[in-house]
Amino acid sequence: MVKATRRSSRDHATVKDVEPVPQIEMLLSCYIPAFECTLCARCCTGKVIALFGGDIIRLGKYAEACTEPMSEEEIALTGAERKMKMVDDACVFLEGSRCSHYDLRPDTCRRHPFIVTKRHILAASTCKGIDWTGRWHGSDGELLRLSEKIAPKIDDCIGAFRGGIKGRRVSG
Ligand code: SF4
Ligand code: SF4
Repeated sequence: MVKATRRSSRDHATVKDVEPVPQIEMLLSCYIPAFECTLCARCCTGKVIALFGGDIIRLGKYAEACTEPMSEEEIALTGAERKMKMVDDACVFLEGSRCSHYDLRPDTCRRHPFIVTKRHILAASTCKGIDWTGRWHGSDGELLRLSEKIAPKIDDCIGAFRGGIKGRRVSG
């Protein structure tokens, strides 16, 4: 069950609703806000785009050349062993402000700017497409499914954060 409050789309976010989780550059929220991508490509630049088993299969012939290994620190934070390759700090699939292989993009990109676990809702603090005055009208279950591989690490990270343990940074 997703921990989200259901309110009118006219309601506004309050300080109580949203809490920064600095070590993962995301905001912990009690609801999923409205979102419309502005195609700014910020989430495709300077980020760690985690890849799990299904992502690697979907990438097919691009899986070797367009991905690279995670560092030990990144593995510890995400649970993924590979990530999208970055060239000049941009994802190798980024062309202009568009994904050149949109149908092949990993689950990390499909759920962005959200991570939804059974215990937590997070939204990327760097995404300008989020509208905190509205509510998400998409499928909570789909976000939950797309987040399931990274969910254990995220729940651990938030547990550590709440416990006052200093974490390291990873991009959402
Ligand atoms: S950062 Fe947000 S608004 Fe910009 S491209 Fe990514 S999802 Fe879209
Ligand atoms: S795979 Fe596509 S959507 Fe994902 S980071 Fe790369 S360019 Fe952006």
